[in-house]
Amino acid sequence: MPRMILLGAPGVGKSTHSANITKMFDIPTISTGDILRENIKQGTELGNRAKTYIEAGELVPDEIILDIVRERLDRGDTKNGYLLDGFPRTIAQAERFDSGLARRGKTLDRVLYLSAPKEVLLKRIATRQICPKCGTAFRIDNGQEEICSMCGARLEHRLDDEVSTTEKRIDVYIEQTEPVVEHYKEKGLLMEFDASPDMETVQAGINEALKAI
Ligand code: AMP
Repeated sequence: MPRMILLGAPGVGKSTHSANITKMFDIPTISTGDILRENIKQGTELGNRAKTYIEAGELVPDEIILDIVRERLDRGDTKNGYLLDGFPRTIAQAERFDSGLARRGKTLDRVLYLSAPKEVLLKRIATRQICPKCGTAFRIDNGQEEICSMCGARLEHRLDDEVSTTEKRIDVYIEQTEPVVEHYKEKGLLMEFDASPDMETVQAGINEALKAI
């Protein structure tokens, strides 16, 4: 029953691949970014607090994120495992998460790390559109408005996918999240995948590697 983390820079394809992985194991994806976006959409207090950070390309403070994750992991659907997408993003979050698991006598099974060069990330973010209703991400190269193939809603550009914010988010990732990759590498939990090829190739590599666990 896998408890897994999916790590990678903005635009690397985390949400695209998380859907496939969670289907394989029949476990839920827990995306802190999706939870925050939903709160912004609903206009909750949490959403209002998070919006300023997200729009600036900064990380939302650890305490807010840890509360969200704690509350989400307490729900019954996580008892057979889960995939955390976009969490932890700082060493403090990783350490608090690890010690929370240890206190409950649980272990983390794998940390999947998707990597790609910066120019690939920038191109993917520039052409990314997201469904405001179901959260599915799409790549739109011709700039036309598109409809979500999963639920029919009109796709939107993400509020933090503006060019000015993108560079900042990648810098924040290098500074604050790459150490998390190292943290789990040292623990022997890391599985690294080159996410620069097309989606099908990356997915096939992930599926093959995960068969063994
Ligand atoms: P994502 O959809 O994972 O790219 O997240 C979108 C934005 O939400 C990020 O750029 C951060 O501002 C915020 N966010 C999501 N997850 C976290 C996290 N674990 N820690 C801090 N901020 C987060």
